[in-house]
Amino acid sequence: MDLDRCVHCGLCLNACPTYRALGLEMDSPRGRIYQMVEVAGGAPIGPSYREHIGLCLACRGCESACPSGVQYGRLVEAARAEIEAVTVRSRPARWLRHFVFGRLLLSPALMTVAGTVLYLYQGSGLQKLARALGFLKLLGKLDDIERLTPRAEPPFFFSQIDRTFSAEGPQRYRVAMMAGCIANVCFARLNEATVRVLRANGCEVVVPAGQGCCGALHVHAGLPGEARALARRNIDALEGGGYDAIITNAAGCGSTLKEYGELLAGDPQYAARAREFSRRVRDVTEFLASIDLNPKMAPLRLTVTYQDSCHLAHGQRIRAAPRKLLAAIPGLTFREMPLSDVCCGSAGIYNVQENSMAMRILESKMENVNRTAAEVIATANPGCILQLRAGVSLHGRGQRVVHVVELLDEAYRALQPRRR
Ligand code: SF4
Ligand code: SF4
Repeated sequence: MDLDRCVHCGLCLNACPTYRALGLEMDSPRGRIYQMVEVAGGAPIGPSYREHIGLCLACRGCESACPSGVQYGRLVEAARAEIEAVTVRSRPARWLRHFVFGRLLLSPALMTVAGTVLYLYQGSGLQKLARALGFLKLLGKLDDIERLTPRAEPPFFFSQIDRTFSAEGPQRYRVAMMAGCIANVCFARLNEATVRVLRANGCEVVVPAGQGCCGALHVHAGLPGEARALARRNIDALEGGGYDAIITNAAGCGSTLKEYGELLAGDPQYAARAREFSRRVRDVTEFLASIDLNPKMAPLRLTVTYQDSCHLAHGQRIRAAPRKLLAAIPGLTFREMPLSDVCCGSAGIYNVQENSMAMRILESKMENVNRTAAEVIATANPGCILQLRAGVSLHGRGQRVVHVVELLDEAYRALQPRRR
């Protein structure tokens, strides 16, 4: 069992954001593994176990630090699935969970409705009014959670699904783009920028019909059965397309897409197909850094720092690629921040579920960001973008938070202002 691989050396402790914040062994990777061993040995799943496992960000910072190769991400996913299996929820909580994970994330129609309602709230002045009146502050935690709400960005990217975009100039690659689920509504401009940058680099970009949510949020919520169903659907939608790569601009999704082979290892119909699918998945920064990058960019006179997304740095071991792309932009000055690979506190929906801890971790992160005096924070995951924007509004100095690909897009477009 992987739990046995832990030799209790403690080398992972300082890589763990919750241990750094609380200094408690039970909230360290080693302490959590110790508790998992106890449960595996027959101890009951009690409130303390739920609390300490629940407080873990599943950021996998400990995995990078561990010399014994403990695959902590899998351990915590399994622990959460066990907890989920014995959790009794109230009827409204069950309904809400079923609605979010079983309906909303799977349905473009429902997400379009939700996105439109969000857009009306944000665009009609209602949001400003609620903030000005301090109404949300009266509701306590809701104020911080509302700060994390993404902006709805019509026109939503759903309209681009089932489209093919030709390469600019000679075609070098044919790639499929995974558009995400919530990203279609709240990161539609990022998805468009991703398509443009890929096209500028000789890619024919297909946004295949039939694709949907990758299942990452389901895996993290202890719902592996639902995640498997989503994986099968995406494999059905994309296989046979003859793609050189399957591209995602969300590090969290990429981690899960690259793990479809393991997720479906026990499914005789899909195991080999899932392995083949995962073999082709590339984070957009990984892909662009691996090809001859189109150098026709205008200078961007910006000072930029980079926050490693956990699922890119720890989950996919990709650290150099985004930095290489930033270095390729003429005029850009890069400033490395201290502890750039320690989680910002986003971690899927962690910042909503464990908001106090997420905000505490974010405050430390912003101290390190501010030390760089950078005017732009680049990262590689939409969830991190939202968390860092909240960090800027609470503790920052007006920094702009963007995806690495958006900076590339700016540099390409600045040279060709009328390009779409
Ligand atoms: S998880 Fe790895 S680094 Fe942490 S205590 Fe165990 S063996 Fe050491
Ligand atoms: S996954 Fe992150 S929060 Fe959880 S134990 Fe490891 S380092 Fe700590």
